[in-house]
Amino acid sequence: MINEQRLVDNFLNMVKIPSPSLKERAMADYVKLELENLGLEVTEDNAGQTCNGNAGNIIGTLKAKGSSTKKILFSAHMDTVLPCDKITAILENGIIKSDGTSVLGGDDKAGIAAITEMLAKIKEDNLDHPEIVVVFSIAEEIGLFGARAMEVEKYNPDFGIIIDTGGEPGVVTVQAPYAAKGKITITGKPAHAGLEPEKGINALVVASHAITKLRLGRIDENTTSNIGVVTGGTAVNIVMPSVRMMYEARSFDGAVLDELLAETREIFTKTAEKFGAEFDDSIVKGYDGFKIDPNSEILSIVEKSCNDINIKFDPRKSGGGSDTNIYNSKGIPSVNLGIGMSKVHTKEEFIKVEDMVGCSRLLLSIIKNV
Ligand SMILES: [Zn+2]
Repeated sequence: MINEQRLVDNFLNMVKIPSPSLKERAMADYVKLELENLGLEVTEDNAGQTCNGNAGNIIGTLKAKGSSTKKILFSAHMDTVLPCDKITAILENGIIKSDGTSVLGGDDKAGIAAITEMLAKIKEDNLDHPEIVVVFSIAEEIGLFGARAMEVEKYNPDFGIIIDTGGEPGVVTVQAPYAAKGKITITGKPAHAGLEPEKGINALVVASHAITKLRLGRIDENTTSNIGVVTGGTAVNIVMPSVRMMYEARSFDGAVLDELLAETREIFTKTAEKFGAEFDDSIVKGYDGFKIDPNSEILSIVEKSCNDINIKFDPRKSGGGSDTNIYNSKGIPSVNLGIGMSKVHTKEEFIKVEDMVGCSRLLLSIIKNV
């Protein structure tokens, strides 16, 4: 049985520690000590130096006990989104939420709490287990920087289990999109709008002509794109000299995303040319998508582990990115498990104790089946 009190206490302790992205120091020190107390060998890498953070990823290793020859990575991220300077958690009727002035930070401290509870249980009951690598990462929320910098090849795990998504325990993200985003700039030419507008090139007009030709919104079952922010102009009586747009696109199919980006650039380039304006963009691909084979070893293990403890195995597609994308792109077949975190990235964020317990049980079940 999971020690619910210990799990909740640990979660509440961590929630109190402010850990915005790149300022995870206090949180890193807390989990380092905790992993050491649980008998892991703990190091901190230099991921923080790659992104100007004040802490690195905390990595703990535990040698196998028993017959398993596999090595398994468990990971959750230490950073939380803002506002998180002062978090007061409230536990009421089995639900933990903030006092409404901040996020809760269950994204992703609930993941850390579940992994830690699994390790505590292994130690307490002297359970057999495969070789374990635990990574508590930094800077996930601002671009997966901790996972990117993590030298996972040094550890070479067979699979990765990331705990960083919503949905009840049993929900497993098995597919996530490729994504790209960045700024599009159209530069026209300023002129006095009343005296000599013909000498100007209105960047917004150029952009508008291009936008009517773009594919935006839901493009197909696997692909979306969006212009979310538009800024431009200097004064009402000046022909708008430039306009900037924040653009993003996602697709479960990497080739389709590449085609879409090429098409978008071509439309802007040609339209700008036609009007004598200039087009420039800083769109970059942020991370690779992934798709886990339904017949893969990792999925059969997760499915059996769900069945063994009577929870519904529920593989799903995700629309977003997580450290899971990075580990998959580094060649470690990895899935993201649901832990019931709800309304994340808002002040209404909450999590059910029951779901944290369920996720911890699932992790222990996975340990038995590896
Ligand atoms: Zn998260």
